[in-house]
Amino acid sequence: MHEYSLVEALITRVEAEARKRGALKVHGLSVRIGELAGVDAGLFQTAYDTFREGTVCAGAALTLRRVPARWSCPTCRAAIPPGQPLRCPACAEPARLDDGGDALTLDGIELEVP
Ligand SMILES: [Zn+2]
Repeated sequence: MHEYSLVEALITRVEAEARKRGALKVHGLSVRIGELAGVDAGLFQTAYDTFREGTVCAGAALTLRRVPARWSCPTCRAAIPPGQPLRCPACAEPARLDDGGDALTLDGIELEVP
């Protein structure tokens, strides 16, 4: 499943980060999930609970935050309000998806560093 490979990649990244900083433990992770990322938060949490056993994340709480998709005009930067056609009313340019709307982002890691 999609969520499982995402969680696997996430934990690998956190492990690398923890090693780099000489952390003893990871206390918490926060992750942003874009509205259009196609990630189910419930499945993601379940996958995380399955994978974290025996990893540096075993005792780390996961905080998930959903980020709504935001669109804007690539030419004049005007924001396209939700529910509107995805085209700039002024320039007729097709709207562009702004930051993180379709991404899964590791927002923060709480590490215990000696
Ligand atoms: Zn425009």
